[in-house]
Parts: sequence; structure tokens; C-alpha cells
Amino acid sequence: MLRMSLHSLAFAKGAVSTISWHCSEGTASDVSDPKTWMCLICGWIYDEAEGAPEEGIPPGTRWEDLPPNWSCPECGARKEDFEMIEI
Ligand SMILES: [Zn+2]
Repeated sequence: MLRMSLHSLAFAKGAVSTISWHCSEGTASDVSDPKTWMCLICGWIYDEAEGAPEEGIPPGTRWEDLPPNWSCPECGARKEDFEMIEI
């Protein structure tokens, strides 16, 4: 019985998040808690909230959504050479 109610609760939460996702569609700012990444080679900063428009990366693009072969626009370092930083 308890398991049944937990399951239906999870289902209800999923339905709600699906609805809210549709409501926010098109606002382009669906990044909650954006992170900032820094190139360890040259110190170039990638801010998920700002993206890198001059590199063709729209604002709000998650670090993990960048192409695997994406590299630092300043020095060409790979994503592995970046580290998440706190500002
Ligand atoms: Zn760099």
C-alpha cells in the first residue's frame, strides 16, 4: 500500500514537471543553478548562463551539453582541461 502511494506521488511530480517545462518553453533561460568553468591552461571563463555567443554557444547552454570535441576559444584546451569554479 505504501509503495503504491509513493509510486503515484512520483508519477504526479513527473506530470507537474512536464507541464511546467512546457510552460517555460521558449524562454531560453531554463538553466537553474548555472555553473562557471575555467580553462586551467589560460584562465578563460565559460559561464553557463551567458554561454559563448561569439563561439555559437547560446546563453543557458550547460557545460555537459557542449560538444565533446569543443575546445577553449583562447588556447584550444579540451573540456577535460576545464574545472568548475565558484564565484
Ligand atoms: Zn584556454
